[in-house]
Amino acid sequence: MDNSKEARALGIIRHLRDCGFTAYMAGGCVRDRILGVAAKDYDIATDARPEVVQRLFPNTVAVGAKFGVVVVLIDEVPFEVATFRADAPYLDGRRPSAVHFGTIEADAQRRDFTIGGMFYDPINDRIIDLVGGQRDLRAGVIRAIGDPRQRFAEDRLRMLRAVRFAARLNFDIESATLDAIVRAAPAITDVSAERIGDEIVMIMTEGNPARGMELLRRSGLMRPLLPEVEALIGCEQPANFHPEGDVYRHTLLALSMLDERCTETLAFGVLFHDIAKPPTRELRDGKTTFYGHTEMGAEMAANILQRLRRSRFVQSRVAYLVHYHLRMSDAPRMRPSTLKRMLAEEGFDELLTLAQIDALASSSYLGFYHFCRRAMQAHKPEQLRPPRLIDGQDLIDMGFTPGPAFKTILKDVEDLQLDGELRDRTAALDYVRSHYSSASPP
Ligand code: ATP
Ligand code: MG
Repeated sequence: MDNSKEARALGIIRHLRDCGFTAYMAGGCVRDRILGVAAKDYDIATDARPEVVQRLFPNTVAVGAKFGVVVVLIDEVPFEVATFRADAPYLDGRRPSAVHFGTIEADAQRRDFTIGGMFYDPINDRIIDLVGGQRDLRAGVIRAIGDPRQRFAEDRLRMLRAVRFAARLNFDIESATLDAIVRAAPAITDVSAERIGDEIVMIMTEGNPARGMELLRRSGLMRPLLPEVEALIGCEQPANFHPEGDVYRHTLLALSMLDERCTETLAFGVLFHDIAKPPTRELRDGKTTFYGHTEMGAEMAANILQRLRRSRFVQSRVAYLVHYHLRMSDAPRMRPSTLKRMLAEEGFDELLTLAQIDALASSSYLGFYHFCRRAMQAHKPEQLRPPRLIDGQDLIDMGFTPGPAFKTILKDVEDLQLDGELRDRTAALDYVRSHYSSASPP
């Protein structure tokens, strides 16, 4: 646990108390404290008004002062200090039309789920639970505070938050809460693509992503958000390679092998690695085939991630992972130069992990995986990407005319260098002289 953060939060609470105000830790950090896990951040709730909070601490930022939130910086570490409040009606399904400062009871009622609706008094070591959060935490359920239908009508994003918390904590969504999500799911598209994308990333990377996907499916959120993943359901594949079942089953099994806190790119790589199997599925001579699914899948993955407003880097890395996830099984038969180029690729380490997971989630042979890992250990980075022996200027000096042939010659020389056949510059120059003619380029 990050004790220094907790200690600083305690300092803020003490100071507010010393000045005559009420102040508690609130929300997620209280839940995490009871669970005995590290909190992402420590939020503080108080009856002091924002302008008072700003006066009491030397270093503050009034980020959301009109919503009652002031960020207090302690040694550059930010803490959200929020005045107890009640939200006025939501008119647009996204944000309250106004906020009123209010009591701690009202502040608990405006929060979305019981397990995140508690307060903690660190000075008297006392939990203030006005919503039944401790009971639900013990039972392992995500339950909306108040009338679930109304709570999801107020703010559609809460539907994804419910799935996210249930996935991360390995909890169930309480049945009335789940029913309300099922009803409201088609309206999830009211929420901005950025916020949807951020929630999906958290569902994929905070633990139990397979459970997260299943909850998206069962809640009806998958259809509007990830229809391409829903299409994997019932996409049958040959049972000899895939005893685990259809493409959806295989994908869930693969997701369940991800480490907690894995990268977003690896998580999406796993989720989308077979995304184009449904549109490429064909019966040829009685055999089920998926020709071209990796190429088409790379394109589909990039499009989905663009739709979720993920960065260009994420889009292109995931496209690379999907495109090449099957290539590695050829590694033991590759020419050394081809193998070295592959090992040196940006993102190859993630690609290898994806291929390993893909093999573990089906009945594929893992020999290639160990072969690649050993090859990576056997080569120092400078052996994988050695400085070039010769360049275009050398070719010009030898009398070649610049043109498309340069690329061919330089690649040929580099292949032989990586294969270990050309060891120095002189050998490279001799090779070019004896194999290529400057008068008639290849
Ligand atoms: P995490 O560990 O992911 O930070 P958290 O429970 O702290 O989870 P935050 O998004 O940090 O969640 O929000 C802090 C608290 O603010 C929540 O516990 C909840 O009480 C309240 N909250 C946040 N977002 C909403 C929302 N959309 N509707 C109602 N209450 C919310
Ligand atoms: Mg939080």
